[in-house]
Order: sequence, then C-alpha cells, then structure tokens
Amino acid sequence: MTNKLIAGNWKMNGSLAANAALLQGILPALAGAACEVAVCVPAAYLAQCQTLLAGSSGELGAQDLSAHEAGAYTGEVSAAMLRDFGVRYAIVGHSERRQYHGETDAVVAEKAQRALAAGITPIVCLGETLAERDAGQTEEIVKRQLAAVIHLNGHCISEIVVAYEPVWAIGTGKTATPEQAQAVHAVLRAQLLAASTQAGRIRILYGGSMNPTNVASLLAQPDIDGGLIGGASLKAADFLSIIAAAS
Ligand code: PEP
Repeated sequence: MTNKLIAGNWKMNGSLAANAALLQGILPALAGAACEVAVCVPAAYLAQCQTLLAGSSGELGAQDLSAHEAGAYTGEVSAAMLRDFGVRYAIVGHSERRQYHGETDAVVAEKAQRALAAGITPIVCLGETLAERDAGQTEEIVKRQLAAVIHLNGHCISEIVVAYEPVWAIGTGKTATPEQAQAVHAVLRAQLLAASTQAGRIRILYGGSMNPTNVASLLAQPDIDGGLIGGASLKAADFLSIIAAAS
C-alpha cells in the first residue's frame, strides 16, 4: 500500500487573504509529513494556490471538472484547464454536486474519465444518505455508484482514488464509527479487486466530519487509506493534527 492521502476540500470558502494565511500555517509543517497532502480549492483560486504551493510537497486539487472536453459549456472548467494550473487531483461526484446539481452516476463516471485522460487523479466520492442506511441499502448504493465508474474506466481503474463519504456524516459532526467505515471500505475494496488485480494500491479515503479526535481510530482500519476533510481542512491546527495522525 502507498502512503496515506489527506485531502482538504475547502468547498466554497476562502479569499485571497484567508487562503494565504491558511497555507502559510500548513505548508512549513509538510516537510516532516510522511503522508501525501492535497488541498482542493475553489477554481477561482487555482492560480493563487499553485503559486503558494510551489516548492512544497503539497499537491493542488480541484473540487469538480466538466464532463465535456471543451466548447459551449458556460461556467464549466475543463480537465485541460485544470492541468494548466498543475492540478494533480480533482474531486468528482461529491454528494453536494450529486444533491444540488443533479449529477448522476453516469456523469460522475464521465468526469472521472475526463480527469484520467488529462493525467489528473479523480477522487471519486460515493456514499449513502441516512434514509438509505436506515433502509439497509448502504452496500447496494455504494456498489452501484462505484460500478458506474468502473464500467467506464475499467482499463485504468487502479489510477483513481475513492472517497467513501456517508452523506449523513458530511458537515454534520456525526462520524461513521471506524467499524462502520471499515465495513463499507472492505466492500469497495472487494469490488475494485474484482475489477483489477492492481486494485490493492487504490487509496480509499474516508470523509465525513473527520477531525483531530477521531482521525487515529479511523485511519487504524485496514482499508482506510486516508481522509477527505471538509470543515477541519479550513483550520490549520486541525488539518495539521490530521496530517500528523496519518504520518
Ligand atoms: C467533505 O466535504 O468532503 C467533507 C468530508 O466535509 P466535512 O469534513 O466537513 O464533513
């Protein structure tokens, strides 16, 4: 297994001043980190963050990308444009995109395909709602979401990162227990291994109110290979504690 990946998802937060202060609080500590660290920033700040990250081991990430290559798609940002700014990772299929922008499994799979074709690693998010969990559908839902991505990208599936993010745990302060998360990660790992003999090296991140208090027990699980961090990635001290726990 490769080293763990800790990726911050800033969502629609930040300003030129706030981003600079946050990265100045994080980057000096990265030299000693034994895990990989990425920040997925708003598209408007890619150029600024590319400059701020230069010379550090921190990687630049985007929060979304277009399912189209180029053309008349007002407001969208293509994979090639992200590459121009040195983007290494792109989140695709975040539950907020699925929920507020109607992204289907098929669209998420296309976005992953665009990212891979441009040399960007997609961080494919999937997870069940509380109603789906309560109805005993968790496994069925996450397998369906992942199957769409495997279907379109099977030949290079070992190049993706997966993030299991139970929707009920995102931004709520509720976290899946390590056992709950590990159970889903094991299901996803088995599905990936059935698709590719190389799947053992695919990193499966946990996301959903990960914080300095719960990170160690989550990362201790055998199939949890890092974290996708929302709220806690906006506070340098918290993000650094999570990075330390993963190192
Ligand atoms: C996320 O947005 O991917 C996320 C996990 O958010 P939070 O850590 O705030 O729950």
